[in-house]
Amino acid sequence: MEILDTIPMHLDINEVSKKLHLDKKKGYSNTAQELVELANSLIHPKAIYEVSYVDNKNEDTVDIGSVKFTSRVLRVNLDKIGRVFPYVVTIGKELEDSTASFDNLLKAYCLDEIGNMLIEMGMEYLKGYLERRYKLEQLSNISPGSLKDWPITQQKQLFSIFGNVEGLIGVKLTDSSLMIPKKSESGIFFPTQVKFYSCQLCPRENCKGRAAPYDENLAESYRKEVSE
Ligand code: SF4
Repeated sequence: MEILDTIPMHLDINEVSKKLHLDKKKGYSNTAQELVELANSLIHPKAIYEVSYVDNKNEDTVDIGSVKFTSRVLRVNLDKIGRVFPYVVTIGKELEDSTASFDNLLKAYCLDEIGNMLIEMGMEYLKGYLERRYKLEQLSNISPGSLKDWPITQQKQLFSIFGNVEGLIGVKLTDSSLMIPKKSESGIFFPTQVKFYSCQLCPRENCKGRAAPYDENLAESYRKEVSE
């Protein structure tokens, strides 16, 4: 198990301004700069990961580091894989505490979106770190709760791989398995030749988090693969 607590994060003010459409809003020319500076002063990014081995592959269950997970998609993705990297990443709770205290709703929204950009950067950093450290060409990710097939309740199993995640990096689970701080991500990185995105199997329309188009044929192939 390794904890990373020096995760470099850089927000480009022009990009933030463009993404949040602040460049077009009258009277908000300095807002991106102000919010980026505030966000930089509030974040405490940390990550934890474990090198785990895959075992006991059954029809729709698989053991990872002796913890049993139930998900056909996870099971199929790990079919020919022996080593995976369960992880939790966070930017800490201070940014979201500050967001909640804002009276200006536009600024609160923008700071929250900046938090989303930062947690994505944390994920990307960890992925790149693992690829370099373990000399892997490409990692894909799957997270509990990202698909109906792998419910969010399995966060508990994922967290059990690490023990006291709250004590280690300050992230805990609510009774309904949501992470606190909210600006946290968890899941399993696994090596792949062809990049996998949960979004490819998710038909949800108008999702602003979509990272890849829905692929009906791919979704069908997962169903076939597991029923053969
Ligand atoms: S399309 Fe949206 S809801 Fe579906 S997996 Fe992707 S991010 Fe999640």
